[in-house]
Amino acid sequence: MENESLKIFRTELDEIQSAGLYKAERVLLSPQQAHIKTAQGEVLNFCANNYLGLANHPELIQAGKEALDRYGLGMASVRFICGTNEIHKRLEDRVSKFLRMEDTILYSSCFDANTGLFETLFNEKDAIISDRLNHASIIDGTRLCKAMRFRFNHADMDHLETQLQRAKKYRLRVIATDGVFSMDGDVARLKEICDLADRYGAMVMVDDSHATGFFGPTGRGSIEYQDVMGRVDLVTSTFGKALGGASGGFTSGRNEVIDLLRQRSRPYLFSNALSPVVAGVTCRAIDLIEESPQLIQKLQSNTAYFRNSLKESGLDVKSGVHPIVPFMIGDAKQAHEMADRLLQEGIYVVGFSFPVVPNGEARIRFQISAAHDVNDIDYLIEKVKSIHDGM
Ligand SMILES: *Cc1c(COP(=O)(O)O)cnc(C)c1O
Repeated sequence: MENESLKIFRTELDEIQSAGLYKAERVLLSPQQAHIKTAQGEVLNFCANNYLGLANHPELIQAGKEALDRYGLGMASVRFICGTNEIHKRLEDRVSKFLRMEDTILYSSCFDANTGLFETLFNEKDAIISDRLNHASIIDGTRLCKAMRFRFNHADMDHLETQLQRAKKYRLRVIATDGVFSMDGDVARLKEICDLADRYGAMVMVDDSHATGFFGPTGRGSIEYQDVMGRVDLVTSTFGKALGGASGGFTSGRNEVIDLLRQRSRPYLFSNALSPVVAGVTCRAIDLIEESPQLIQKLQSNTAYFRNSLKESGLDVKSGVHPIVPFMIGDAKQAHEMADRLLQEGIYVVGFSFPVVPNGEARIRFQISAAHDVNDIDYLIEKVKSIHDGM
């Protein structure tokens, strides 16, 4: 019996291998930062979500040590039994104030926040209207929920309106979207989405994982960038990207919504509380972002510098303003070959191809950080250009 199951799994693994989709993990021997140590040597990292370079920031490490000394490793309990520490309440309050939302509930990850959201608030009387390119955790969250599901073509406001019309007869309607889409770095058209939501009496849910803490004038995310703060009903996001990169996620919304989530949301009720160490670090990360606007400014200027230099070098880059910069190649094999060649030059990036992105739209995704300096970016451009010209 065991042999039979292993044979099945091995066949599946072989299929993944032969399709060129097998993901090998590179082991880091240093903290996450611009220049990382790997078993194969030092490389310049352009594929982390470490947007503000906070993953090894000395003040956050200090905040982690203080929380560790004060509160210990963790709660060994879910929140509602004996797992709520004062630092959790402080972080929830901190996030609510930062995003100007009424209340916030913490999860072990944003993935959990999204899977615990929809089934708690919505049932078969309701409808979820979701952008086709939404993150896997939103898709899984809507699958767990009994509400009717409608999908609209990516960023297509006419199609969204069509789906809102089709969903008219449902009790509640919620439009769900990523704030920033991770493969293209494009920003959701939140103003138009909120206008349509107003017109059709729908709620709006935004997953701002690729924006919270650094995107928008003061880092409050795509909701700030698109000037819709106060118009969005539900915001979910992660602490595992810009806000220190440790782990954890949250949902922010109206008091009644968050209260209901505390009563019924399954990943909250049945999973251990976020470590107080992470909560302490994340509180400090938000303080730091508010106290040090130069962090966001550095990221913005690095991003603008990189995007402009690519264009000046005649390299094809999707226009945009986000530090996710997709470099379109088209052919999957060429994208992976280019990533390999860049690695030989000491630059760590990843090639993405079908099914992660549409067929024939293979690309390399560069991610810029405030931790990079101009020399890092110059070096990257020089190597991208020479490898690309020689291909
Ligand atoms: C990264 C990401 C997540 C997952 O966040 P975790 O906290 O790592 O679980 C969810 N949604 C979006 C849009 C993301 O980019």
